[in-house]
Amino acid sequence: MIIKDPQRLLPNIKNCDWEIPEMILEIPTHNVPLHPKSIEKLLRTVKMTKKIIAFQPILPVASELGLPSYPILAYLYPQELSHIWEHLRQTFVIQNQEKGFPKISYTLVSQTDIDEQLHYFANYYGVAVKPSYVRVIVGNTCNLKCVMCPYHSAELKPTHSTDFFKAKKAMSWEMMQKLAKECGEAKISILIGSIEEPILHPQLVEFIQLCRQQGVPRVHITTNGQLLDQTCSQALLEAGLTSIDISIDAATSDTYRKVRGADFNRVISNVLNFINLQEQLNIDCEIRTSFVRNKDVTIEEEQQFREYWLSKINSIFILNLAEYKENNMRLETMNQTGNITLQYYRQKAGGRWPCLFPFTEITVLPDGKIYYCIETLFRLGFENNIENLGNYNEQTLESIWCGDLFNKLRQDLILNQLENRHICKNCDTWMSQVITTSTAQEYAIFTTTITEIYRKINSKKLDE
Ligand code: SF4
Repeated sequence: MIIKDPQRLLPNIKNCDWEIPEMILEIPTHNVPLHPKSIEKLLRTVKMTKKIIAFQPILPVASELGLPSYPILAYLYPQELSHIWEHLRQTFVIQNQEKGFPKISYTLVSQTDIDEQLHYFANYYGVAVKPSYVRVIVGNTCNLKCVMCPYHSAELKPTHSTDFFKAKKAMSWEMMQKLAKECGEAKISILIGSIEEPILHPQLVEFIQLCRQQGVPRVHITTNGQLLDQTCSQALLEAGLTSIDISIDAATSDTYRKVRGADFNRVISNVLNFINLQEQLNIDCEIRTSFVRNKDVTIEEEQQFREYWLSKINSIFILNLAEYKENNMRLETMNQTGNITLQYYRQKAGGRWPCLFPFTEITVLPDGKIYYCIETLFRLGFENNIENLGNYNEQTLESIWCGDLFNKLRQDLILNQLENRHICKNCDTWMSQVITTSTAQEYAIFTTTITEIYRKINSKKLDE
């Protein structure tokens, strides 16, 4: 057998039969050493078929639920294909990215045992697969005090036991520049506005502009829309914002005042103006409005919200109410639509699957601390010792993502070894990774335990 392994990623295993004269084994340069068991499997497979074989590890259940794919880590192919192999390999790579109908006939080896899972998905995952997005927290302040907000509500803020929300914090321009450069080079999307009103940051527009100039593929903000006036809207659109969620939670000014304590007419006129402006400027920016199912808000009002906004934009987002209770964000109710599918995956995973967030997201706080999911953010006001996985003042995103702390978290999630990880242990958010799709009229509805997203069929999908 001819072996092409420029990075020397093949393990040194002696008791394998490498004598397969008519085949070529090629190990692409992804910096991920092959696990000995994977090689044994490949060599066993090649004895049965002398056709093209590709190796691409999967993590049971998590990969089915949308874990970003590994690149192909090994190819075996007949020597007689050498003259067209370059072309075939490129077709493979495109096929792998587009997940289209396979154009080449081949055998895919992808099943992994627990040793391989730990090797590929804990020890080397960060080397092979970049984050899907970076959640950037640009500050810790908001201009509203919505009743359900664990960060700023008039009821919950006084119960905070940490000082995270006490003094004003804003991400420095130096940190923003570093993020724009790194995410631009690595082509990683950025989401802004998870715990804060991002428009309050004085350099938000410059940050978005810089991100886009540096090559960040998508920049998303979530805002309450109160400050989204003509000047701000135009500046955001011209800076290159690619998507926006506006949290409204009401279809009447009465409910809006009760939930958000602010001027309903102002937010509606701001959003309508944003839609018009986006059309006039002909800028491609996906607009979505959202509605939290707060207590005492009727189903009729939710329906009114849905009908109104779906007549204006392509997509809306309905969320079940989550409240901070017993040291955790607890959902008041969970959507039941996907229950059977959820049970199926829970059974398949033997209880719970490795939560996808630490495999897809990095969260950067204004002071450079690194978290790994929205659930960790929910605790910012209540818990001082949330494990942070790095310090962006001293490290790069890449070194954090591939670093020991992220790897150890991924390992514990794969092994379901969560005794010392009380946040993960007491969390329900991982269940929201099962998405059930249905259609109604011209809309696709994507339902999880927490959310329902309505999207006009054939319109573009937001990152989150
Ligand atoms: S299980 Fe919960 S706390 Fe742990 S990473 Fe997933 S979402 Fe975060």
